[in-house]
Amino acid sequence: MKVVVMGAGYAGMYAANRLAKKVKGAEITVINPRPEFVERVRLHQQLAGTAAVATPLTSMLRDGITARVATVDRIGDGRVRLDDGTSLDFDHAFLAVGSTVVPMPGTIPVGTWEGAERARAALAALPAGSTVTVIGGGATGIETAAEVAEARPDLLVRLVGSSVAGVFSRRAHRRVRAGLERLEVDIVDDGVTEVADRAVRLRSGPALASDLTLWAIVADVPDLAARSGLRVDAGGRAVVDEHLRSVSDGRIFAVGDCAAVPGARFACALAVPQAAHAVDTLVRLTDGRTPEAYSPRYVARAVTLGRKDAVGQFTRPDDTLRRGYVTGRTAVVIKEMASRGGKYGARTGTGG
Ligand SMILES: Cc1cc2nc3c(=O)[nH]c(=O)nc-3n(C[C@H](O)[C@H](O)[C@H](O)COP(=O)(O)OP(=O)(O)OC[C@H]3O[C@@H](n4cnc5c(N)ncnc54)[C@H](O)[C@@H]3O)c2cc1C
Repeated sequence: MKVVVMGAGYAGMYAANRLAKKVKGAEITVINPRPEFVERVRLHQQLAGTAAVATPLTSMLRDGITARVATVDRIGDGRVRLDDGTSLDFDHAFLAVGSTVVPMPGTIPVGTWEGAERARAALAALPAGSTVTVIGGGATGIETAAEVAEARPDLLVRLVGSSVAGVFSRRAHRRVRAGLERLEVDIVDDGVTEVADRAVRLRSGPALASDLTLWAIVADVPDLAARSGLRVDAGGRAVVDEHLRSVSDGRIFAVGDCAAVPGARFACALAVPQAAHAVDTLVRLTDGRTPEAYSPRYVARAVTLGRKDAVGQFTRPDDTLRRGYVTGRTAVVIKEMASRGGKYGARTGTGG
């Protein structure tokens, strides 16, 4: 069985390693633009200098899996074409190319490895007293603003978003904001219309001075599926059936951020279970057994507030909020275990 895995993020790595574990003799090739697995959930740490997040693919893949450093240019009929001009045939494929960012001009994105590296260099060059603006009131923005504020107390850090921490319950929301304020992050609940000439213009009118402006919104996916003629939703994500197979080509499983799974949001916490489910489906089908339908199951949503504080809000399986939440050291430990678990799963293809 020839299997091509497109993308070596959480979903792709997990799929490749699980398949190698479960199907002896499968010929598996993982294609990724970089020779490293990037722990994307720690990119805010990468830019603030509190963690190194890249691990060589070769040390993450089980024996027998081939890693190709390239970008998939197009998916055809049982074949992928790479940007180096070569092609690979497949019997089955996993589309796991994740999500990407479309930053506002004048900003540096934090949601990609390349962006985080640029941000890290720009941050390191900032003299004391400079102002850093982080745009995005969701988890990525909160974690980035807090991480930078803690690592560089000599800077003024501002977080701008139309509803900062709006996805938490009222009490957890207050706690997240209190944690940011303790780190002296200036919270501005507003939209941004333009970033130019070292200033951030707000939707409500005023322009705020900013020496470095970071874009912490992840809302797009690569256009590979659309470009290849696979059916996609309005956001460009590959439309799948209940077994996570592309509705356009049943040989292709789409997993992680790039898959249009009803009820799913961009999350490592979903990418890994989806990869597990897709591999198990392929194994069942190969064995002549009936596969089970997939549906997302949530447990919690959590944000770190620097290295010493965090807030974790429990959710029902359908992602609606429960009342309970944890804070401080307990939340830090739980979040750290979840991040380590994501990498461990990607490396071993177990758990999830
Ligand atoms: C700062 C930050 C913090 C986060 N924190 C959390 C968190 O606490 N909990 C949580 O659940 N989620 C979190 N997320 C979201 C999480 O990182 C993503 O949902 C997760 O990485 C999705 O996994 P994936 O495998 O689908 O995609 P990715 O991890 O993005 O991997 C996709 C891979 O595909 C590669 N690729 C792209 N195009 C091609 C191509 N054409 N050919 C070959 N390869 C390609 C990419 O280079 C990448 O290596 C966070 C994200 C950020 C940015």
